[in-house]
Amino acid sequence: MVDMEYGRTDRGGWIEVVCGCMFSGKTEELIKLLKRAQIAKKKIQVFKPHIDNRYQLDFIVSHNSTKLPCEVVEDSRDIEALIKPDTQVVAIDEVQFFDQNVVELAQKLASKGMQVICAGLDTDWQGRPFHPVPLLLAVAEIVRKQYAVCTECGAPATKTQRTIPSTEKVLVGTGEVYQARCRLHFSPYQYLSTDREIEV
Ligand code: ADP
Ligand code: MG
Repeated sequence: MVDMEYGRTDRGGWIEVVCGCMFSGKTEELIKLLKRAQIAKKKIQVFKPHIDNRYQLDFIVSHNSTKLPCEVVEDSRDIEALIKPDTQVVAIDEVQFFDQNVVELAQKLASKGMQVICAGLDTDWQGRPFHPVPLLLAVAEIVRKQYAVCTECGAPATKTQRTIPSTEKVLVGTGEVYQARCRLHFSPYQYLSTDREIEV
């Protein structure tokens, strides 16, 4: 495992997933891993979905304002088409916004010897698994779960609390729309009309 963490590509490629709720440091961690890859003189390519227009479009940007240039794509087919022959590390931020084909692509790139790092939300605003991240977690060699700080009590937070009355599955936003919460202080139902069970 340690060999993999430090990027032994002579053993073939692998998939890493950086997951957690909003504000848990996924993008920060992704940028840290990519900067290390650059120090190791690896050729990197970084992608994010077009839907994430919160900050500068051609950068992945953390809530702590660290950033790295990226290519913006509509779907996983775009990523495949853009991969250069000498690329060794492929990173995808906000991977929850891609369809399931991204899982097959990650497997294919890893099989070709690349380090594939996918960062994204593991659950949605209702606390449900956010596809395709659960599938990536299942096939990944390395899983890094990040934790935020609960805005109510300061405990480790694993949930993303929506703070405005919207039931859209996807509502792109940051601090004005979402907060990090622990299980105790997570209450998604205040914005649902019925008291339905969490679907998994
Ligand atoms: P993610 O990509 O998981 O949404 P980022 O890497 O963009 O997270 O941002 C992490 C940073 O967010 C932290 O280093 C911290 O500066 C900031 N932050 C703001 N609110 C919180 C919170 N409730 N818990 C932890 N970090 C927070
Ligand atoms: Mg992020």
